[in-house]
Parts: sequence; structure tokens; C-alpha cells
Amino acid sequence: MTHRAYNFNAGPAALPIEVLQQAQEQFVEFGGSGMSIMEMSHRGAIYEGVHNETQALMRELFAIPGNYQILFLQGGASTQFAMIPLNLLSAGKTGAYVMTGSWAKKALQEAKLVGETAVAASSESVAYNRIPDLSEISVPDNAAYLHITSNETIEGTQFAAYPDTGSVPLIGDLSSDIMCRTVDVNQFGIIYAGAQKNLGPSGVTIVIAREDLVAESPKSVPTMLRYDTHAKSNSLYNTPPSFSIYMVNLVLKWIASKGGVAALEQYNRDKTKLIYNAIDESGGFYRGFADPASRSLMNITFRLQSEELEKQFAKESEQHGFVGLKGHRSVGGLRASTYNAVPLESCKALADFMQEFQRKNG
Ligand code: PMP
Repeated sequence: MTHRAYNFNAGPAALPIEVLQQAQEQFVEFGGSGMSIMEMSHRGAIYEGVHNETQALMRELFAIPGNYQILFLQGGASTQFAMIPLNLLSAGKTGAYVMTGSWAKKALQEAKLVGETAVAASSESVAYNRIPDLSEISVPDNAAYLHITSNETIEGTQFAAYPDTGSVPLIGDLSSDIMCRTVDVNQFGIIYAGAQKNLGPSGVTIVIAREDLVAESPKSVPTMLRYDTHAKSNSLYNTPPSFSIYMVNLVLKWIASKGGVAALEQYNRDKTKLIYNAIDESGGFYRGFADPASRSLMNITFRLQSEELEKQFAKESEQHGFVGLKGHRSVGGLRASTYNAVPLESCKALADFMQEFQRKNG
């Protein structure tokens, strides 16, 4: 058995070992074709079969209604920060944003380059340690959409429930929590997510869009940045990131084998409970960054009493086989990313390590 680290990387992140092994088996030759999936035409029947099956699996597992399209785009979630306003923010309208942290800020910055924007709610005054209460969100009358970041990867906060925006489309950046729990897709106009945390390798961005929102983009938008280009061509306008999409296909089959998204959600809750308990039962040795009501199922952020101790924790954890626990450079501290493919055993090992570290240094 290959050595596997306790991988808590924030993204790209852990993939299921079963998926990696299957990809390895099919790496050189896929489906009796005499070639790798990477070597074949994206217009051929074999690749198109994978492409369409990936959409069908996602539709089934994430309960995506028939009036939503599933697009496979490139450029990462960062390109969606621009595509959302380019396609949806027309003159006289406002793009409204809930400011929850680092990624919401990036999304807003990009929209400001395109048109008029408004902050619908913000937790900046508390250093983004919580998600604003839904009652704090005020959507302007002329809003083209309300944009939220479902899970703030850096701060470790997550919406526990989504705002009801009525006829204003709700746009969700689910990059770091897509398919970690069941979601009512009908609440959203558009959901987008880079694949590299919960769904596969980097290189493909999933866009789940209500059909009417992507049917016709403004004339001035360049071809590749128009949703209608990709919606009308089933994401085959140009060469798609075929290998990444194939990997997403395998991850989706793995999710199905685990009992689907609801079963994974329970698993994720069990996983994070181990680590949050280690924080909560430490008598203040570990201090969770996120307000408990806004805690993320995917990124657990915490601090120790001093930066020296945090450095020591990061160093010793590496010596014990843990990877990726250093917090993001912008907020410091420590962060454990517990995406779908991170096994419970890794979380148990981390909770044990935390207790042991406290015993020696507390
Ligand atoms: N949004 C969120 C919530 C993220 O976590 C990230 C990546 N860490 C991004 C957007 C940016 O994604 P990408 O690197 O795919 O552009």
C-alpha cells in the first residue's frame, strides 16, 4: 500500500484513494480504445459519453432540477467572479454581495470592474469570524442578483442556511463546499465551484445554472466569457478540460458508492465534530476562529496562544505525517480542511495529535 499522508490541504486537496487507483488503472488505456482519455478527441463518442455521464451523475447526486444546466468551464472560480457580472449585471442594475471574507471580497472587486455593486451585509467589523445573520441581509430593489460565498475557505465559516431572495437570483460560490451536504438547488439562480476541493483535480469549474439565466448573454461579452456560448454547446464550444472532467466523473461515482451526498454530510459532521471537540474541550488552549454558529464543515480554523506555539504545532504536525495545517497567510493560525475525501481516520488522528500536543505544551 502506498504511503498516504494525513492530507488537510485547502485545495487542491485530498482525493479518494479508490479514485486515484481507478484512474491509474485506466491511465494508459481507457475503455478498450487503445489510448488514454487525454489522447482522444473531445468530439468522439467515448469522450462525449464520459462528459454526458458526468452531468447525469451530478444531476442525480446533487438533485439538480431539469431546468438547470450543468456547465464545465475553465479559468477557475476566479473567472466566475467576472462572468457573473459580465453576463447578469446590466446597466441600471446592482450586483449585491454578502461580505463574508476573503473570497467574497475577491468576487466583489471583480464585479466593481463591470458595473454597479452594493454590499448587502458584511461581517467585516468582526474580522469575518461569522456569517451575517440572514435578517441582516438587505437586497437593493434594483438588484440583478445577490452573491454569496457559501463557505469561506480561509476564515472557516459557512452559511448554515441560505437567504430567500424571492425573484432576485441567488448566486452561490460553492467552491469549497459543493456536495458536502444536501442543498436545495432551487434556491439558487447559479451555483459555481472549482472542482479542486470536493470534486476532483483543478482545471474544471462546475457551473449549475437556471436555464433562463444563461440563455442569452449581453452582445458585448466576448465569446468564451458568455454563458450562452457554453449553454448552447453543452460545454463543448471549444476543447474542454477532458481529463479533469473524467476525474470528476470518478469522484461522483465514489460519492454514489458512499451512499450519496446525505450520507457524506453525516460523515462530514462526524469528522468535524472530532476536531471541533478537541478545540472546545481544550479549556482555551485551542481557540476556534469562527463563531460556533458559523462554523464550517470543510475548513476548521483555530489559533493557539502565541504565534510561536502555532509555528511549533505546524512543524510537529508535519513530523507526525499531517499536511496542510498552516493557516492561510492572510489570517494566520491553523486550518484543517476536511473535504469529502478526507477520511474520518485522518480527523481522528488530528484530534488525538491536538490532545497530545496540548498535554505536552499546555
Ligand atoms: N472561491 C472560493 C470559496 C475558494 O475557496 C477559491 C479557491 N480557494 C476560489 C473562489 C478561487 O478558485 P480558483 O482558484 O479555482 O479560481
